[in-house]
Amino acid sequence: MNVAADRLAIDGGTPVRENSYPRGRGIELLGDEEIRRATGVLEARALFRYGFTSQGHVTAVEGGLSKSFGTSHALALSSGTAALYSGLLALGVGEGDEVIVPAVTFTATVGAVVMARAVPVFAEVDESLTLDPESVEANITERTRTVIPVHLDNVAADMGALSEVAVRHDLLVLEDAAQAAGVRYRGKPVGSFGNAAALSFQQGKNITCGEGGALLTSNWDVHDRALRFHDQGGQFTTFTGRREHNSGAPFIGMNLRMTELAAAVLSAQLDRLGDIVSTCRSRAQAIRAELSDLPLSWRRMPDPDGEGGSLIFFVEDAKLAVRFGAALAAEGIPAGQMYDGEPVYFNRALLEQRTVWEDGCPFSCKQHPTTQHYYRGLCPRSEDIFGRSVIIGVSPLMTDQDAEDVVTAVRKVAAHVL
Ligand SMILES: *Cc1c(COP(=O)(O)O)cnc(C)c1O
Repeated sequence: MNVAADRLAIDGGTPVRENSYPRGRGIELLGDEEIRRATGVLEARALFRYGFTSQGHVTAVEGGLSKSFGTSHALALSSGTAALYSGLLALGVGEGDEVIVPAVTFTATVGAVVMARAVPVFAEVDESLTLDPESVEANITERTRTVIPVHLDNVAADMGALSEVAVRHDLLVLEDAAQAAGVRYRGKPVGSFGNAAALSFQQGKNITCGEGGALLTSNWDVHDRALRFHDQGGQFTTFTGRREHNSGAPFIGMNLRMTELAAAVLSAQLDRLGDIVSTCRSRAQAIRAELSDLPLSWRRMPDPDGEGGSLIFFVEDAKLAVRFGAALAAEGIPAGQMYDGEPVYFNRALLEQRTVWEDGCPFSCKQHPTTQHYYRGLCPRSEDIFGRSVIIGVSPLMTDQDAEDVVTAVRKVAAHVL
């Protein structure tokens, strides 16, 4: 096909394909095994993990997670946000502390920090769309306690360099691996590098049970604090023989527990994780190779061998990126700008430093006045890079035809707009 001669679908031409292909991950593969396990839970009327009739699905999936991620402990939780929040609290982060987060991430990363009453400090991302270790270092103050590297869209952050910075400045590391379950960095799973790591099993993630999350750690104290916190201070865990020893003074907690129903679905999904990630990786690699002659600048990958199937490229300017994404979508390819190409602090609540409570930590606290202010232009490099990015969805269900259509559509759009 002479792609340059065809009018773009966005300008009234014929689209490369009529329907966009599925862009989901684990949700697309949800099948008989998930249904069988979930049905078993329902038939036994055993929905609560700590109930007398519990079949132990949550405990089993925690075992599966810690085995597949290589950490000593995994705590299943009700969401990825719950995992970040419990992780921060379990690491001892609190009032007056600063936590360094990337300018580009999902809002939950920042929300967890704010709800822990700590102050988010935004550092730049580089062309990998993950934390730039040098910018992390430049943002460290005497209040910095923790850094949260986010493995955005199935690419591992540069954990080697980031860990060095953390060690040098005595910072704790909480990995946000919500978008990268099954991704590796130098052969090791993301989630096994930090002092703790958060996973999400929300419907859009690599594997899913609708809503769910997990906190991974190899530190028993961190695990135990999170375990008690997520269970109303140890409401059920203190009585079921799960506690290895009594770890001292009690504290009040929340209910962030996972249900047996969710865990039954999740355990079947976990069995599929390796295949999902490797299938998506091969697809993405093949598509990038087919398009390597085009003047597109592909996202840098700190470890390309471990990525989980990310197709993001950068063009000359933000206007062009918007047009490129919209043109691809019109051709029937699921593409566009992740988070509208905007850094997370463009969120109005953050710009105005508003929380659900009227005053107090972190932003309007008299005891720990913060010097942090957020504004457009705060992380100019991230704003520029992310604004020029275009993302194409990759699904484990993509067929050879789907992949061919992606290549055709990108060539067609490039021929018109570049
Ligand atoms: C999805 C996501 C979260 C939060 O997970 P939920 O399960 O939706 O609460 C946190 N961080 C990132 C980067 C995410 O993509």
